[in-house]
Amino acid sequence: MKKYIIANWKSHKNLSEVAYWLNNFPNNEESRSALTNLEIVLAPPYPFLALAKEIIESRQLPIKLAVQDLSAFGSGSFTGEVSGHNLQDLHIEYAILGHSERRRFLTETSQLVADKVGEALSWKIKPILCLDKPYFAEQARFLPDMTAEKCFLAYEPVAAIGSGLAEDSGNLLEIRKELTPIYGSKILIYGGSVNADNVGAFLQVCDGVLLGGASLSLNDFVDLLFAASQSIV
Ligand code: PEP
Repeated sequence: MKKYIIANWKSHKNLSEVAYWLNNFPNNEESRSALTNLEIVLAPPYPFLALAKEIIESRQLPIKLAVQDLSAFGSGSFTGEVSGHNLQDLHIEYAILGHSERRRFLTETSQLVADKVGEALSWKIKPILCLDKPYFAEQARFLPDMTAEKCFLAYEPVAAIGSGLAEDSGNLLEIRKELTPIYGSKILIYGGSVNADNVGAFLQVCDGVLLGGASLSLNDFVDLLFAASQSIV
């Protein structure tokens, strides 16, 4: 099975920076065949999704698109929200939901995150449900069983995010053991200070990684992709 490399650009980059990154993403035969064992997912800011789709399609890049959030309310009079309907035709395959920054700075509750998960599934968008330990059990209580079934789980210890202090990859086996009785057997992603040097260790123990900082510079990201790909051959 392919390993997931999920890049979350958060509120970084403007239009020309997005175009530069995507127009310079390596796409020769050598790099294409080297990266076939990876599912590369990119979550740009909303305003650049259409541009990203256009460049990905025109250059036939092996990159899938994700959103960093999704409205729980559906389409209608919800100023500033982005609904599943708004995203139709943009080929969005994944939604990063319940990120700790949204729980912390935008006071998202586990109920709201659960509603967003339901909304994503109703639009056939795969939810990547972000969880730190305090939310393992709490979040599950708000998710109907059938909903939890279809989630990817992203274990993201808050202390590791953006700090340069990644969790010990050995702990991921224990984390999987804690999550499985609650959510069942799921695709498990790790996020928090992953870089080209430690990505291989994480891919030995989980199904993919979620990146913030290491996805911003194209060179750093490509180095990480090659390190990831080589670590799983
Ligand atoms: C994140 O914010 O989800 C994240 C993993 O960030 P970073 O890679 O910068 O730690």
